[in-house]
Amino acid sequence: MRLILILLLGLAALSAVLAANTLRLPALPPQPPASDTAAIDEQAAAGRLAEALRIATVSAAGGQPADPATFAAFAELLQRQFPNAHRVMRRERIADGSLLYTWAGQDSTRKPVLLLAHMDVVPVEPGTESRWQQPPFGGVIADGYVWGRGALDDKLNVTGLLEAADALAAQGWQPPRTLLFAFGHDEEIGGSGAQAIAAALKARGVHAEFLLDEGGALTVGIMPGVTRPVATIMAAEKGYASFRLTATAVGGHSSQPPPDTAISRLARALVRVQEHPMPPRIAPPVDEMLARAAPAMGLLNRVAITNRWLFEPLLIRQLAAGPVSNALIRSTIAPTLLRAGIKDNVLPSEASAVINVRLLPGDSTAAVATHLHQVIGDDGIKISTDGPFASEASAVSDPDSAAFRHLADVTRALFPDAVVTTGLMLGATDARHYQGLYDNRYNFMPVTLDAEDLQRVHGSNERIAVADYARLVRWYRRMLETLP
Ligand SMILES: [Zn+2]
Repeated sequence: MRLILILLLGLAALSAVLAANTLRLPALPPQPPASDTAAIDEQAAAGRLAEALRIATVSAAGGQPADPATFAAFAELLQRQFPNAHRVMRRERIADGSLLYTWAGQDSTRKPVLLLAHMDVVPVEPGTESRWQQPPFGGVIADGYVWGRGALDDKLNVTGLLEAADALAAQGWQPPRTLLFAFGHDEEIGGSGAQAIAAALKARGVHAEFLLDEGGALTVGIMPGVTRPVATIMAAEKGYASFRLTATAVGGHSSQPPPDTAISRLARALVRVQEHPMPPRIAPPVDEMLARAAPAMGLLNRVAITNRWLFEPLLIRQLAAGPVSNALIRSTIAPTLLRAGIKDNVLPSEASAVINVRLLPGDSTAAVATHLHQVIGDDGIKISTDGPFASEASAVSDPDSAAFRHLADVTRALFPDAVVTTGLMLGATDARHYQGLYDNRYNFMPVTLDAEDLQRVHGSNERIAVADYARLVRWYRRMLETLP
């Protein structure tokens, strides 16, 4: 009887703590009406984006950027479309096609703001052309959408920024601090343009208050348990590393095989890697993302997120269940290339595989190498880093900085029903090349995407609604106009 009483008392105390923690969550801010109604000729702005989509600035799959003449034509088009912006900004062409714009601010002692976008696009996958409802490089406006490769990734941010700058320049507005627009020409194949711009800025001693690049967006139906649009102003980016595993053997005729071969040895190593993922962890940007989105979630999720001391293992198990959320809580390891053998009756003397790793902030390439050595546990497997695309995970930016609060305020003004949070970028962007040139970096574009829209990025039927593009332009305009 005493025992039961103690248990009951314990349970009551526990529920009181859970409830208290859950209730401590701030209420979601009330939803004001959209407070930005700047006059924009939506059709004309859409027309200019459509024109930009007609120039095929394609970074080829083999790693070849588009012909420099294509970027010259693109630069000429921008100059013709945005004469006011080009009157007030200095423009430099860097590295065969990238563009750096400088708009001198009123106060040259204040740190500048660095705004990134890229002008190149990925090719249309051969064989999928017929899936497009409108030609990918036709720049067609139909059914209320601007259609074409680059409508979401990433020409809309190039023309959107210039639309905003052009309108402000026409009014005689001058930024309070210097603005830098950095438009890379080969983001999709590594970003040598961004590297060259970053090197030029570094040589000039430029250090920005904050950097903003593509990456985050407003999503609908993606974050489990949240029905409202979720604006993720990303505060960090995962790193990128590839490792080659190589097994060697004597080789010979396959009619008298030894008990172990290069292929079987490599296969065992791959299975071990697959069966021993990197340990899960809720890293700071994800932690903060959950905390900020929690008020918009159902009761169970709210209780779990606010009582992490008790529910963390459960939360991690839930996040590990889906590929996207799993990628948020660990460094992922994926085998992507496999090579061995030349003929069906020859034992190969070498078998190799490449595994691609996306590093969680806090995990280094060296730490993953150690993990691989441990789990493979076979000195006969050579492990080496591979490929030119490597980068460590970014530092985690402050989600409470003045810059973050500014971006969040502008987003709430333009998207009153959105839950504004932060997050972790799973892919790599040009921003990674600017490390050390800013106090904080964020990845966000003010466009609402659902699961279907996300498939259009690098997929078929890439498009943006004319009204959504106008809202993006308004967002940029307000963001610049109210810069602290
Ligand atoms: Zn992109």
